Amino acid sequence: MKAAVVRKNSDGYVDIVEKELRPIKANEALVDVEYCGVCHTDLHVAHGDFGEKPGRVLGHEGIGIVKEIGKDVKSLKIGDRVSIAWFFEGCGHCEYCNTGRETFCREVKNAGYTADGGMAEQAIVVADYAVKVPEGLDPAEASSITCAGVTTYKAIKVSKIRPGQWIAIYGAGGLGNLAIQYAKNVFNAKVIAVDINDEKLALAKEIGADLTINSLNEDAAKVIQEKCGGAHAAVVTAVAKAAFNSAVDCLRATGVVVAVGLPVETMDLSIPRTVLDGIEVVGSLVGTREDLREAFQFGAEGKVKPIVQTRSLNEVNDIIDEMLAGKIEGRMVIDMKK
Ligand SMILES: [Zn+2]
Ligand SMILES: [Zn+2]
Repeated sequence: MKAAVVRKNSDGYVDIVEKELRPIKANEALVDVEYCGVCHTDLHVAHGDFGEKPGRVLGHEGIGIVKEIGKDVKSLKIGDRVSIAWFFEGCGHCEYCNTGRETFCREVKNAGYTADGGMAEQAIVVADYAVKVPEGLDPAEASSITCAGVTTYKAIKVSKIRPGQWIAIYGAGGLGNLAIQYAKNVFNAKVIAVDINDEKLALAKEIGADLTINSLNEDAAKVIQEKCGGAHAAVVTAVAKAAFNSAVDCLRATGVVVAVGLPVETMDLSIPRTVLDGIEVVGSLVGTREDLREAFQFGAEGKVKPIVQTRSLNEVNDIIDEMLAGKIEGRMVIDMKK
């Protein structure tokens, strides 16, 4: 079968190779991959930014059909449509795995990084960790929910936002676009979109943002304080320190900042502001299997619609170049049949 693997020199690109898969174990399933999205995280893995992984099959936004199951598998059957997600497997017995915080398991395996991923014609998954895709959800759109969707859905959950409250979404790109839809259509919050790109803000307005702010022209925190009395929560998908600082400043007392974007910087956090206003700052990392199941379901119900474009496996390196050049709208998804 064909697979996109990290190059020996970790130069940021992949080689498309013929690969023989090993036989599946008793707790595993073999999946015929239909679609796999290309994510910025893949670019980091291909570049060796998290440690070199030569030969690793990339991809953690995989969707496919179960072709074969191991003898102990009870949770899946042949023909099921399932995910191949970044949260590939937890240890199943630590304090995080046992308390609904499995993505923080210290022995976690991640698809397309510490385990072979979904950017291939076939993939092996640990059956109990593959989440079923519900009927009625387009599989190419499901691939985007497997990463960006569940990440933003979970972040909004972590923000503890309640119906009618104001939530600021910093960054209206691929993640932010889905965050706005989940916040608006699932959590029934009032949504403020903050970005530096007018086109992305226009799209944010179209999909339901109540207020949009271009932070190049205006001080977003000031506008939010004036117009909304401060936000109850802010989710930061942007990868700039300035966005994190503004998110803290845009909150009303006891507001929550949820960090999702990963700029390699530290944020300025005023200690008096944190103490006197009871501000919370919390990180959120992808989502659990249950979060993904819920995120898929809202997609199937039409509450959330990812923007996707399909390409072929041979085009992965072109897509990487386009992503590096910032040319991409929505998500590029590899269609294994193309
Ligand atoms: Zn991803
Ligand atoms: Zn664990």
